[in-house]
Amino acid sequence: MNNDLLLEVKDLTKYFPVTRGLILERKIADVKAVDGVNFGIRRGETLGLVGESGSGKTTVGKCVLHIIPPTVGEVYFEGSDLCRLEDENLRRVRPRMQPIYQDPYGSLNPRMTVDGIVGEPLLVHSLARRKDVRERVGELLKLVGLEPEMGRRYPHMFSGGQRQRIGIARALATQPAFLVCDEPVSALDVSIQAQIINLLAELQERLGLTLLFIAHDLSVVRHISDRIAVMYLGRIMELAPSGDLYLHPMHPYTRALLSAVPIPDPVLERERKRMLLTGEIPSPLNPPSGCGFHPRCYERQDICSQVAPSVTEKDGHMVACHLFA
Ligand code: SF4
Repeated sequence: MNNDLLLEVKDLTKYFPVTRGLILERKIADVKAVDGVNFGIRRGETLGLVGESGSGKTTVGKCVLHIIPPTVGEVYFEGSDLCRLEDENLRRVRPRMQPIYQDPYGSLNPRMTVDGIVGEPLLVHSLARRKDVRERVGELLKLVGLEPEMGRRYPHMFSGGQRQRIGIARALATQPAFLVCDEPVSALDVSIQAQIINLLAELQERLGLTLLFIAHDLSVVRHISDRIAVMYLGRIMELAPSGDLYLHPMHPYTRALLSAVPIPDPVLERERKRMLLTGEIPSPLNPPSGCGFHPRCYERQDICSQVAPSVTEKDGHMVACHLFA
């Protein structure tokens, strides 16, 4: 494994079996949620992972955190393959990688005060003595832009943006090196989204964090990501440095997604060509043959429905499409 990489994912595959029969349960099919995904994230880097709902991006996040084990593949974190670690070693690694969820309210226990919620990981992982927890929680709340006195309140007494700040404070309690942010701003008002993205960028800089930032919208990940991977039906279609992806998108799917992102300049906005994607993302239970995008692709060729394209790479820009083979 390259020493610069904090995380490396190799051939990550996650199939969920579909079974039938109550007594003699038998497998009748697989939902192919993630199918042979490869990427690495350098220390201090943010990788944006973008795709429509059903593309498999959340499953990638859960496998990376080892919340669910992959069916096949390897997930190296700080040099160790998480899939091969014994329970005790896995417990040691867990505090180093933390999730931030989309629904901050749903992930905060409504019966606990904020002090209790943010202090819990400190006690569970024996990172602070009971008498020091309050002070440490106060520091964490300040770090995310909240007042330490707010720790006495309950989650329902906060706005959506403040609740997400509490979720971030809880994630930071274990002093992680790596955060998996799974749609952390999707449930928030547009006016609040930028504040949370800026907070995450600021914390990353200050604490040297590495981020996997999952979103369904390319405009959300643009400013925080160093590189962006675009997922479709369980596979990565394109992965490139952020600026390169926005200026020179190659894959037809990326181009279609980008054409839907508004441009602040009204003249450019009026003149540019929209590529509307027709139809829904196919079911991962029965994915299309060849290139998974071919039923919706406006540039498909005969080969596309028969042969899955392999990945080609030039100057760190990777794409899986027959147009660039
Ligand atoms: Fe379109 Fe074919 Fe490229 Fe798939 S491989 S994106 S169907 S041109």
